[in-house]
Amino acid sequence: MSELKLYNTLSRQKEIFEPIVKNHVGIYVCGPTVYSDVHLGNCRTFISFDIIYRYLKYIGYKVRYVRNITDAGHLEGDRDEGDDKFSKKARLEQLEPMEIVQRYTVGFHKVMDLFNTLPPTIEPTATGHITEQIRMAQQIIDNGYAYVVGGTVYFDVEKYNKEKPYGILTNRKLEDLLEGTRELGGQDEKKGRLDFALWIKAGPEHLMQWPSPWGMGFPGWHIECSAMSEKYLGKQFDIHGGGMDLAATHHTNEIAQSQACYHVSPVRYWIHTNMLTVNGVRMSKSAGNGFLPEELFSGSHPLLDKAYSPMNVRFFMLQTHYRSTLDFSNEALQAAEKGLKRLWEAYETLTGFVPDNVQPSANNMIDTGLDEKVRKLVGEFDENMNDDFNTAKVLASMFELVPVINSIKDKTITVTSLSTDTLTLMQAKFKSYLEDVFGLKAVNEADNAKLQGVMQLLIDIRKEAKGKKDFVTSDKIRNQLTALGIALKDEKDGGMSYSFD
Ligand code: AMP
Ligand code: ZN
Repeated sequence: MSELKLYNTLSRQKEIFEPIVKNHVGIYVCGPTVYSDVHLGNCRTFISFDIIYRYLKYIGYKVRYVRNITDAGHLEGDRDEGDDKFSKKARLEQLEPMEIVQRYTVGFHKVMDLFNTLPPTIEPTATGHITEQIRMAQQIIDNGYAYVVGGTVYFDVEKYNKEKPYGILTNRKLEDLLEGTRELGGQDEKKGRLDFALWIKAGPEHLMQWPSPWGMGFPGWHIECSAMSEKYLGKQFDIHGGGMDLAATHHTNEIAQSQACYHVSPVRYWIHTNMLTVNGVRMSKSAGNGFLPEELFSGSHPLLDKAYSPMNVRFFMLQTHYRSTLDFSNEALQAAEKGLKRLWEAYETLTGFVPDNVQPSANNMIDTGLDEKVRKLVGEFDENMNDDFNTAKVLASMFELVPVINSIKDKTITVTSLSTDTLTLMQAKFKSYLEDVFGLKAVNEADNAKLQGVMQLLIDIRKEAKGKKDFVTSDKIRNQLTALGIALKDEKDGGMSYSFD
């Protein structure tokens, strides 16, 4: 089998993967900021890393997969001043910040489960690691790369850049970065335009704050990932991942912090996933095009023609390499739905073939040409995953095998056209790839369609009942569905949607 190669953002090329400790991989992925629901774009990134995690395990590594929960310190617009996202939302909803954190952490896990995404092996929270972050900030001050102004600790980017290139991850010079940043004004307390906060002095409006050597405050967003990755994976570890949008600032700052603290480059391989877009525009909360997985599963968003199952969406994502942008469209999702159905049916058919252990008779010879072709295509699964996790190409090879499977099913060719070894290999590889590496599960589309029909019928009956002021019937429908774990929601446009617990 070929060696695993992956694209390293740091070197801007594909490199052969060599772990620090033989047979072990340490991987850190930036997790969600849990002050609101994750949108489908966020899910794309987490699903991409789920597949990378599953593949590393599949090829035999013992993987420690750390994905954090950002539950403090992430300020509006990713800046160093202003409201923190949790306090703002908590005030808005009259809840404790930790109630916000709990609500959206639970929601995030539920969505990850629906997508059949494996949990990380460690899921640390920023609030659970305040001491580690304070200790790290203090060490950076002691090493001379940070300074304190009025209770806030800033990282001195220009000083750091004298020794190490600050823009190394995205290959940019300090002068160019400075050019793109606004001039400091009279009220600014930091020394340099690019300086960022390691610790932020809390005002009375900040509901989450902790004592520190510099007074009451809370950690900056970037330091949590540096502190937690060091704690669980060490001063230098194998892989760090996240969406591409994080490379220029968040990850650039992570490298600077760890280097300034421990004098070692923290990460060997940086992996960045590309963005999910809608009509070419990056999906994000601020662009207003960030629909929720729940809306996708119930079809209750104006951009959606119908409901799509989680496995349909997962498959849609697998059809594109993680470093390419993926544009969302109804057509693409519907094509993916058909593709998955065709592939899954072939997989089920393949599983049903019983390898013929009897030597093929003279008039039932192995078709060596076909046998070789099948072995070659099956061999391409590993080759393509080893080439920077190219799931799209693996699927292309699988689809080339579908007509072979269907021909055996239709008896156009006999099962003994393939050697027992080849057939068993194909069965094993389909199972490993579809279920273990790609994390797909059987979906019964026929049942799904029927359920959607029944739900629509109930929604229509309830609407009619409400129209006739027959609230006994309308309440009965809603309550009984709730008891079954199906929530009905009135939409602003007068329509209804539903979601499953
Ligand atoms: P956040 O909760 O905003 O910190 O984002 C969580 C993860 O989702 C980060 O790794 C982001 O880079 C990633 N992300 C945000 N928007 C998108 C998008 N449109 N497509 C893919 N990944 C995204
Ligand atoms: Zn991070």
